[in-house]
Amino acid sequence: MNNAGLLEKKVCLITGTSRGIGRAIAERYAEEGAIVYANARTKGSIDEWSAECSVKNQTIVTPLYFDVTDYAAAKQAVLQIIKEQKRIDILVNNAGIVTHELLSMIQLESLRKMFEVNVVAMIQLIQIISRVMSRQKSGSIINISSIVGVKGITGQLAYSATKGAVISLTKSAAKELASQNIRVNSIAPGMVDTEMCSADSDKSFLERLSNIGMGRLGKPVDIANASVFLGSDLSEYISGQILGVDGCSII
Ligand code: NDP
Repeated sequence: MNNAGLLEKKVCLITGTSRGIGRAIAERYAEEGAIVYANARTKGSIDEWSAECSVKNQTIVTPLYFDVTDYAAAKQAVLQIIKEQKRIDILVNNAGIVTHELLSMIQLESLRKMFEVNVVAMIQLIQIISRVMSRQKSGSIINISSIVGVKGITGQLAYSATKGAVISLTKSAAKELASQNIRVNSIAPGMVDTEMCSADSDKSFLERLSNIGMGRLGKPVDIANASVFLGSDLSEYISGQILGVDGCSII
């Protein structure tokens, strides 16, 4: 991928970068010249990768270890970024979890956990970081939702409900924050080839694959490229939008 410098020196926080889509977003952001704060849960787990990514792209990629559901730790992480960079230009809320349960099988505990990670933690981070962005009078927030939050799906009612919530909170946050010049958008991926998706390799998976117009799974970099656009000044007049990146899926 060519580095066009679309995010040159922009300070960004990306959650859930230990693998999958979050990792791809962090790498594309570094390629575009961003100063990346990469969140992961397990201490030390992304030290090696972040050091390599910094050198390769001649930028700074700093690991920030916290669980997104831990409000105090998230706040501390944001304070560290402000101390080091004095600003935050982009927040990518990517961390998420999924369960595959039919309506009759949904466990309350996993339902609550999924809302906690996919929705509550996202709102909390937006709350913390939008205060910083308000003072700057600029910022871009990108929330990763899902095609199933738009269209629904059998066997993932709880997950799709969390992603529907991400879509509506994105639209409301965009309305509240527009006057501060803070943009809030969401990317709604279709099926993307990551661990999350391969855990779903049953018959319905194959059926859904056949519903992708372009005939292939998404790659993490497909989502990362859309995130570059929404984080960059190319999209400076775009807010409150849900961008489907799904290879023309019809599920
Ligand atoms: P993966 O399961 O591959 O990665 C999820 C990431 O989120 C991991 O880095 C994981 O960290 C992190 N994470 C989970 N819980 C927490 C937490 N409490 N605190 C911090 N980090 C956490 O998923 P994908 O890369 O596929 O998905 C990324 C996003 O894209 C998710 O929001 C997902 O819902 C969404 N999405 C994915 C699709 C797909 O087909 N793959 C389709 C549509 C949307 P750890 O290693 O510690 O578990």
